[in-house]
Amino acid sequence: MSHVLSNRALEMAQTLVRMNTVSANSNLELIEYVRDHLNALGVRSRLTWNADKTKANLFATLGAGKPSGIILSGHTDTVPWDGQDWTVDPLSGSVQDWPGEEFADGHVEQIGPRLYGRGSADMKAFIAIALANAERFLESESPFAVHFAFSYDEEVGCFGVRELIADMKEAGVKPVACIVGEPTNMVPAIAHKGVYRWRCCVRGKEAHSSLTPQSVNAIEMAARLVGKVRDMAEGFERSEARYEGFDVPFSTASVGQFHGGIADNVVPRDAEFRYEFRNLPTADALAMQKDVLAYARQLETGMKKVGPDTGISFETICEIPSFLTSARDPVTRLAQRLSGNASTTLVAFGTEAGLFKNAGIPTVVCGPGSITQAHQPDEYVTLDQLARCEVFMRGLALAREVG
Ligand SMILES: [Zn+2]
Repeated sequence: MSHVLSNRALEMAQTLVRMNTVSANSNLELIEYVRDHLNALGVRSRLTWNADKTKANLFATLGAGKPSGIILSGHTDTVPWDGQDWTVDPLSGSVQDWPGEEFADGHVEQIGPRLYGRGSADMKAFIAIALANAERFLESESPFAVHFAFSYDEEVGCFGVRELIADMKEAGVKPVACIVGEPTNMVPAIAHKGVYRWRCCVRGKEAHSSLTPQSVNAIEMAARLVGKVRDMAEGFERSEARYEGFDVPFSTASVGQFHGGIADNVVPRDAEFRYEFRNLPTADALAMQKDVLAYARQLETGMKKVGPDTGISFETICEIPSFLTSARDPVTRLAQRLSGNASTTLVAFGTEAGLFKNAGIPTVVCGPGSITQAHQPDEYVTLDQLARCEVFMRGLALAREVG
């Protein structure tokens, strides 16, 4: 296929990449840019905000009045680049030619220009191409409206989009399909694992380390819980029913951080650790967490005998539900048709897709660029991928049916 990317789409992608929307920062510059652009076309945006109004989601309907619509979903935030080795400015949005290269594993990176910058692949280019085609959606005679659903705080736990979905429901909007434009090389993705993270705080009872029987060692209790998480991980690997197609075809568990203790001769009062489950779509992460809680309650019984004020508490850090749809679902077939890719894939990363699906909206993940470049130094997306995405958008504007 040879496609030409419109100048306008490329310029918009560059504009969005040049805005610093790292999750820790405000995304309002980007949201206002999109809102103003849509305003000029006579399209009103619905904004939903975070608590201190420094970040917003944007929801807009292009083709209001049509009986139903298809969502184009993208997150506006990016991961940071601190400490990464970039050879280009992460906010440059520069386009550079690439001579092509064959890698050790045999795959060939095609020749052609690339757009560089943080968020180029993940996933500002998708948002830009949708926006650049707004007029096409407005003028289209397709029976479907197109909804733009652009969220904040995806990268830190899919927080923003929950507000957006709730607001959409409240407004009585009932989309027939949702396309999440995360980078899949424009191959429709029909499943990903869930990502569930918790922080566990253990409060023990302090003592001089020569008097251990009068103390409750918070690190040791936390370590038992860490051991429990590890045992569960080994259990998944040993005996969980496999879901072929994932890089790791079973659920995983992992402890990512551990803090505790103040001195060698003090039995520590406090310890804390963070852990995650990445569950297969066929496995239940909350049931996994229940096992951890049951074990914690058991430990607590012993701890309280020594120190009534001791205890173990848990705090949810993120809950990104897994996503699973069928290759035969009409929304998958629509994405296959529009992308020209008859195949489907599974992806290793979490997305907002499970949240849309759980809200009763048939959903598929399909967007330009590769996750291999996302979150990496010198993140880029090829203009070829962007052109393919634009062909997809043009097709969407003409879609007469989902399926
Ligand atoms: Zn992303």
